[in-house]
Amino acid sequence: MIYFDSHCHLNDERFLGQEEEVVFRAKEAGLKAILCLGYDLPSSKQAIALAEHFDIVYAAVGFHPQNLEGARLEDLAEIETLAHHPKVVAIGEVGLDYYWENDEATKQRQRPFFIEQIALANKLGLPLSIHAREATEDMYQILKANRPTAGAVLHCYSGSVEMLREFAKLDLYFGFDGPITYKNSVNPKACVQEASLNRLLVETDSPYLAPVPKRGQTNEPSYIPYIFDQVASLRGMEKESLEQVLNQNFENLFHVKL
Ligand SMILES: [Zn+2]
Repeated sequence: MIYFDSHCHLNDERFLGQEEEVVFRAKEAGLKAILCLGYDLPSSKQAIALAEHFDIVYAAVGFHPQNLEGARLEDLAEIETLAHHPKVVAIGEVGLDYYWENDEATKQRQRPFFIEQIALANKLGLPLSIHAREATEDMYQILKANRPTAGAVLHCYSGSVEMLREFAKLDLYFGFDGPITYKNSVNPKACVQEASLNRLLVETDSPYLAPVPKRGQTNEPSYIPYIFDQVASLRGMEKESLEQVLNQNFENLFHVKL
């Protein structure tokens, strides 16, 4: 089997000094691509450094909505410069987070960063990896008014099935992670079943959200088969047919050959 991990943070401090082993285990598990997402300038540079070092690692650069303290819109010029690196395949992780950041002033600040980074991705012809938490309505309105022209994935999709149908009309991809393996998480499972097959992606979001049976441990890209198997089971599909479709989706969105 050939796998990919379309969203992880190998640049997280929890992996510091262990990157070689983590990537080795990912290769052993069959992964041919790992997309490492930045969340501010230093982590975006670190994602690129990892992509330069490991053949199967690719980078995304951007400002995450929870990492805007001290950031200025002018800093996006540096994101643009970084995005010209040949192993940068997306702008991300960008978006809106009203769960961790719930005062009105902080919410207000997230929107221009998000909108500007959509514009940047469109200018560069790159897809977006988008984080949305407790911000579904604003996310929808912003994406409707600022359509990504080179594609986008709503990573770790946690909205409702009804909203998934609305987002699908904007031609977005949906990324699913560990939560689809959790016993009590009903909604993400329903969303896996509802999404169009040609808009589905799997991701670990490691080091967070380890899937069952590794729940509670540090997540890593080599755990992607647990998430993949759960998608196959929820869709009632043979693993080989699902593998073909998902790998094609990844290649279509990020223009990376597996
Ligand atoms: Zn992430």
